[in-house]
Amino acid sequence: MADSISYDILIIGSGIAGLRAAISAANIDSGLRIAVISKVQVMRSHSVSAEGGTAAVLAKEEGDNLESHIYDTVKGSDFLADQDVAERLVYSMPYEIYQLDHWGMPWSRKEDGTIAQRSFGGYSFPRATFAQDKVGFFEMQTLYDRCLTHDNIDFYNEWFCTSILTDEEKKQFRGLTAIEMKTGEFVKFKSPAGIVCTGGAGRVYAFSTYAYSSTPDGIDMAYRAGLGLKDMEFVQFHPTGVLPSGILISEGARGDGGHLINNKGERFMKKYAPHALELASRDVVSRGMMTEINEGRGFKHESGVDCLKLDLTPLGRDLILNRLAGIREIGIKFSGVDVIDEPIEIRPVCHYMMGGIHTNIDGATEMKGLWAAGEAACNSTHGANRLGANSTGECLVWGQITGELAAKYAQSHKDASLSISQQQIEAEEKRIYDGIFRGRGQVNPYQVRKEITDMMDKKAHIFRSEQDLSDGLRQLRESKAASWKHVDDQTQEYNTNFTNVMEIDSMLRIAEVILIGALNRRESRGAQARIEYPKRDDINFLKHTLAYYNNTDNNDRAPSMKWYPVSITRYAPVERHY
Ligand SMILES: Cc1cc2nc3c(=O)[nH]c(=O)nc-3n(C[C@H](O)[C@H](O)[C@H](O)COP(=O)(O)OP(=O)(O)OC[C@H]3O[C@@H](n4cnc5c(N)ncnc54)[C@H](O)[C@@H]3O)c2cc1C
Repeated sequence: MADSISYDILIIGSGIAGLRAAISAANIDSGLRIAVISKVQVMRSHSVSAEGGTAAVLAKEEGDNLESHIYDTVKGSDFLADQDVAERLVYSMPYEIYQLDHWGMPWSRKEDGTIAQRSFGGYSFPRATFAQDKVGFFEMQTLYDRCLTHDNIDFYNEWFCTSILTDEEKKQFRGLTAIEMKTGEFVKFKSPAGIVCTGGAGRVYAFSTYAYSSTPDGIDMAYRAGLGLKDMEFVQFHPTGVLPSGILISEGARGDGGHLINNKGERFMKKYAPHALELASRDVVSRGMMTEINEGRGFKHESGVDCLKLDLTPLGRDLILNRLAGIREIGIKFSGVDVIDEPIEIRPVCHYMMGGIHTNIDGATEMKGLWAAGEAACNSTHGANRLGANSTGECLVWGQITGELAAKYAQSHKDASLSISQQQIEAEEKRIYDGIFRGRGQVNPYQVRKEITDMMDKKAHIFRSEQDLSDGLRQLRESKAASWKHVDDQTQEYNTNFTNVMEIDSMLRIAEVILIGALNRRESRGAQARIEYPKRDDINFLKHTLAYYNNTDNNDRAPSMKWYPVSITRYAPVERHY
């Protein structure tokens, strides 16, 4: 093994959260050495796919206000958001929008040159700040450009992190192990401070808007290191995924005036959200859509899947070409439909994980020296259901916060001795080389991956039953027990077969946490609709789920589950109406 590589701060992940954290840390101290490690090239992180917008209160003169953004976020969360955290997001966002503007972000503008904003689901005011329909791409480009102006930020692209290194008691962060994908070399990074920014894990579902790299290996690293995972049962299904691929049609399309229609030609959302219609929060719209489909008012897509239609023809050609050009292109290329002329077939699709690594309001994890930010983290901004356009915002705000905190911590721990037990390194080499790379078995790991993702689509979808979730868990454990842990391709260079199998390993553990969280939560709240428990139950379940890794005898066992209080500082929970 190569000698270890030392840094003052390690940032895992080069999405919006990771890049924002790197800039923030570099701004605190240009003498700190910062590494951003990513299993893909920077501009292939899933953040580049964000389409519709980033929420912030900018138009105060026109009547918008911070209080309303906080309330909309808490209401959208079905009152599971930590309200002090939602408040921090909302107060920080205007600064982040103007900061990006100063760094060169090409925000879409109004006629008078001020920054434009569009409507999004669940908001009482148009506050999704956008750059046509490619907000993530331009945010990433702006942040990456900014990173490159700092000499003290190094990028390790196509390095696959495998585990977190800690002190003997697992209380303090010490570094990471990683594989340099180009050479296949196993490397250890040493550092007093780390920030996990590994994004969401929506590829545990088959029909998904996520990049193929959005697997749970980052979240799983934290889980295996003994950190709690919070609220993992809350998976967001976005109303409009294009068939058959699942590629996203941004909520901006409905924000700008698109309608959802059933096979009777009705705008059915009037039944489920009489005031907000298509612009209710995503959990409400997706549930309404599945109800229409289940009650026979859907269409049949040529692939045999049931669906509904999104009608953008009322927007008119000019508006579509101006503001939704990327959406039009997606329709033509991936569905053969020009949305200027006709409605497009869509279906709810896995899109976001409200859950993640348990952190406090500052993004600090339960391990000293380690923070988490962005979609991989759960600081509880979004509770049981995130509002669209609040996620890129969360990445920016907590990228900034954690970058600053990690930098200050690194300054005061510069000379700390970072002894890492040889035993930890050996155990890791054994886990990945003996356990996976040189593993043996008859079962095709890609078949196991397909079984997991198909099972999650069927058993842990929008409407969930005790029977389905238990069946899913049984199937998952069967897959886990099969002899699939092996790598056919034994080359060293760019061995994606190897990293894919490591991703599958993490999918099995994290899918189990999602299923068990969903089973334990015997209520319907936000994105989780339990058929047997159709109502929200604040008496028993107004609390966060925490799951801890349990590998007694070196065997993955069911996670240990706990509950954690919700921070309610402003609004008593009430029933939601849209
Ligand atoms: C199609 C789509 C559209 C969206 N549109 C919007 C929108 O309009 N507005 C909004 O607010 N939100 C939107 N979202 C959500 C939002 O884009 C994401 O939540 C957010 O961008 C996540 O950013 P991140 O920095 O947390 O992680 P990501 O951008 O997902 O990046 C994760 C990083 O972690 C790295 N990584 C992961 N595992 C490892 C490992 N083992 N080793 C090394 N590196 C690793 C990856 O290489 C990558 O760099 C959208 C999401 C999708 C999927």
